[in-house]
Amino acid sequence: MLIGGQWMPSASGKTFEVVNPATEEVIAHVAEGEAEDIDRAVKAARKAFESGAWPAMTPSARGRMISRVGDLILDNLDEFAELESLDNGKPITIARVADVPLAADMFHYMSGWATKMHGQTIPLSVLYTPGASYHSYTRPEPVGVVGQIIPWNFPLLMAAWKLAPALATGCTVVLKVAEETPLSALRLGEVLQEAGIPDGVVNIVTGFGETAGAALASHSGVDKVAFTGSTEVGRLIVKAAAADLKKVSLELGGKSPNIVLDDADLDTAIPGAANAIFFNHGQCCCAGSRLYASDKIFDKVVEGVSEAASKIKVGPGLDPETEMGPMVSKIQHERVSGYLEAGAAEGARAATGGRKKDGAGYFIEPTVLVDTKQDMKVNQEEIFGPVVTAMPFKGMDEELVRRANDTVYGLAAGIWTRDVSKAHTLAAQLRAGTVWVNCYNIFDSALPFGGYKQSGWGREMGEAVLDNYTETKAVTIGL
Ligand code: ADP
Repeated sequence: MLIGGQWMPSASGKTFEVVNPATEEVIAHVAEGEAEDIDRAVKAARKAFESGAWPAMTPSARGRMISRVGDLILDNLDEFAELESLDNGKPITIARVADVPLAADMFHYMSGWATKMHGQTIPLSVLYTPGASYHSYTRPEPVGVVGQIIPWNFPLLMAAWKLAPALATGCTVVLKVAEETPLSALRLGEVLQEAGIPDGVVNIVTGFGETAGAALASHSGVDKVAFTGSTEVGRLIVKAAAADLKKVSLELGGKSPNIVLDDADLDTAIPGAANAIFFNHGQCCCAGSRLYASDKIFDKVVEGVSEAASKIKVGPGLDPETEMGPMVSKIQHERVSGYLEAGAAEGARAATGGRKKDGAGYFIEPTVLVDTKQDMKVNQEEIFGPVVTAMPFKGMDEELVRRANDTVYGLAAGIWTRDVSKAHTLAAQLRAGTVWVNCYNIFDSALPFGGYKQSGWGREMGEAVLDNYTETKAVTIGL
């Protein structure tokens, strides 16, 4: 673990195994951090926030350092991609063009904000002191020591989404990485040191959620907790943070509707709908997991998406031919196959796929389920695997909007149509933080991302994420 600029074992000396999900082999042993380690890391982050090089640094110097982190990630692109593939299971070809460059871009984009964290001057008209005169201005200030807890689906990228804005705003961090995928964040720790980020500004603790994660979320020395993961754990984070009313931001689950209207260009909508669910093996919080297609084109869409699914080359992520790797862990493998069984038991039919693969590795067949009803488990709960349910609808009406919004989640939605008026009308009616029209899974460091309803609090990326890491101070001077 990286604490106060030192690489160290856990206080207990315990370690845990890191498993390659494509082979089920143990590939590393990592320090098992617990409450005592979190406490040490929080103290190191507090010291770095209050004294030493970090608070004294000019915004411009801080920005250049953050930018350097992005450069160094790109310098080590192949190594990061290989680590991601080994640890998470994702195809190395995807990690090379998506995960790693996007992580670097997040540092590059956020580096520019370090010099742009300015407030406003606000003219006052204080009614009860006629004739008096005041000068008022606001200052955005770093919220302080931030506890960040991240998931395993995009290990490096999630670390970047969290660390880059916290650093740009001048916070210090204790990062608790997912126990399934600790490797790339540890390598990132070395890169942060190489870039010159002062000791204690970023502390990285490896360990389990119930111990290290819970200790971080409830630690009284933490000013703010930023969490990405399941809605279920998000609720635990809020409870843990409630004792001392820490600030909390959450990026949680989804069950996103992807709607194909009858006038859509099916040559783009069909591969687009397949990408919406099968990208990253469906292990995306924004996966387009409920596919609604107009009844006029429903059979064609199901046939096309099923054909695309059946052609996906599933295998170990390090094989350059592989298009889809295994589920990240045995637990996820069992969870996703449990949903396939539950769907079948409730009457859903697999147009393609529908089973887990036999043999070593946590593989699942890319699956399209039809004959499902809105209230079935497979339509209401987040599966977090390569499983889409396809349902027909009659027209673009209130009933379609009701069904699309009939979920506790509100992270993302997709619309496929050639009619610009329908696109804008529907985009406004969907209760989701992101709406993609004639595209899906398009992310940019400049674009805010986050959820309505039980998909979260606050936004990641873009200018919006700066709110997660700043307090606004109003200063008033009597003249
Ligand atoms: P998933 O279900 O996709 O594995 P989780 O929400 O369980 O996602 O995990 C996301 C992150 O939250 C991981 O880093 C995990 O260790 C952490 N975590 C899990 N349980 C807790 C908890 N009770 N308190 C704090 N963090 C937790």
